[in-house]
Amino acid sequence: MRSKPGSRQTKYIFVTGGVVSSLGKGITAASLALLLKRRGYRVTMQKLDPYLNVDPGTMSPYQHGEVYVTDDGAETDLDLGHYERFADVTCSQASNYTSGRIYSNVIARERRGEYLGKTVQVIPHITDEIKQAIRSLSSPDVDIAITEIGGTAGDIESMPFLEAIRQFRHEIGRNNALFIHLTLVPYIKAAGEMKTKPSQQSVSILREIGIIPDMLICRCEKPMQSEHKDKLALFCNVERELVFEEQDVANSIYEVPVELAKQDVDKYIMELLELHVRDLDLRDWQDMIRRVIEPKSATVEIAVVGKYISLRDAYKSIYEALSHGALANDADLKIRHVEAEELEKVGAAKLLAGVHGILVPGGFGNRGIEGKIQAIRYARENRLPFFGICLGMQCAVIEFARNVAGLADANSAEFDEQTPHPVIALMDSQRQVTDKGGTMRLGAYPCELRPESRAAQVYGATEIQERHRHRYEFNNAYRERLEALGLKVMGASPDDQLVELIEIPQHPWFVACQFHPEFKSRPLNAHPLFRGFVAAARKVAQPLL
Ligand code: GLN
Repeated sequence: MRSKPGSRQTKYIFVTGGVVSSLGKGITAASLALLLKRRGYRVTMQKLDPYLNVDPGTMSPYQHGEVYVTDDGAETDLDLGHYERFADVTCSQASNYTSGRIYSNVIARERRGEYLGKTVQVIPHITDEIKQAIRSLSSPDVDIAITEIGGTAGDIESMPFLEAIRQFRHEIGRNNALFIHLTLVPYIKAAGEMKTKPSQQSVSILREIGIIPDMLICRCEKPMQSEHKDKLALFCNVERELVFEEQDVANSIYEVPVELAKQDVDKYIMELLELHVRDLDLRDWQDMIRRVIEPKSATVEIAVVGKYISLRDAYKSIYEALSHGALANDADLKIRHVEAEELEKVGAAKLLAGVHGILVPGGFGNRGIEGKIQAIRYARENRLPFFGICLGMQCAVIEFARNVAGLADANSAEFDEQTPHPVIALMDSQRQVTDKGGTMRLGAYPCELRPESRAAQVYGATEIQERHRHRYEFNNAYRERLEALGLKVMGASPDDQLVELIEIPQHPWFVACQFHPEFKSRPLNAHPLFRGFVAAARKVAQPLL
């Protein structure tokens, strides 16, 4: 089947992964999206995840890494963060489907009797539902939809997704959809050689179920030789010029699109999809990479005090946003990863001495709370720049209530329901909620900033929209009391009922927010609060400037 010339058919790219997980499929898919956007096409993105949780919102960050939140309140896989950061696409509820979500839709339909007495089966009912999820990306405003399939070829649980994309492409036609397989070409040290066999086997798994990749992108530690590419092309049945390499990058993940562009991957994609090959303009991106690499005039060390510190993926967007903030301030960033529980044991001074700023990120549950509160006290008393996010803001309120307002045992009702001073309490809208999944205050909400605030200064605006993911909030019963002592509510919901941002104006930089600004930071456009925080920390690092 071929699309009519000039028709506005959305074209599809499916990215699968082979050999091992953690190859960086999300980064590769996001890089392709960036390149195609910079060729003038309108791109949207999606991830299909084979696990049975309806969304990652109920999973521990240890299992899954960070939960990325979209404007429309979807709790999603962290790869969507790469999509938004690289390609500046807007993700939504339609951008992430899990097997759990697909199955629960099908089962709900079965309960409503919509299958009219039929036996409900993986094929065709689950695969139809998956195809529907993919098709939902099609729109007159979208030229290219990129769908990443989670997991690795050969996983039992990803089979229905692979079958669905096989059918999808068969239905929509070769020139309208493309299969790209990201695979590993390992270097075996003892043999001093790179090996193509794992990739051949991975492609043969796909071929067994009827998927012949159009392109291979090979992840490798060292440059591939021509003979490796010849071999892969021949044995995997892929055109020789469609075997690409994606070597580990030296400085920044943002180099990946540039490396792919050097090999014209995006040009070949356009040709295969019968799209007009437009010029690529990557100048600002390349300029950003140049700035990442070039020596900086200062090094800023930021302590991130959290509960899931041992797992780097748990605070992915925070670390990325800090790096954007550092780049915007022409500073090298050093992150000191501080385990809140460890800090509880050994004290703040021991673990925080010498840092130029302290960030306490979001989180859930009791563990490590007292350590975070101690870290905040240390920042407040030593006049070190402090940035609190979500739970980090809640802990800042608790710290101030206890140590400045003298409200002994002040706490969040999340950690102590019997506290005499619940300075952080459950939102009214949350009192009757019993289900855990998808029931928090989620997604973008407006916030009004006081014009005299530091936040308004760095945003250059007083009306902002930021993304949320929480159940608890600042308890208004304590607002006046804490404000009178110097903890100012500088941002609130338009009806002034929900406290969204607090500051201590007497402190060089003490800013904390109930929302998650890290999700909206971009490498070419650092989030204002991260830019402002790193700028304040830079002043500590280089007091004479
Ligand atoms: N646990 C807190 C709440 O639910 C904070 C959530 C967060 O940091 N994302 O309100």
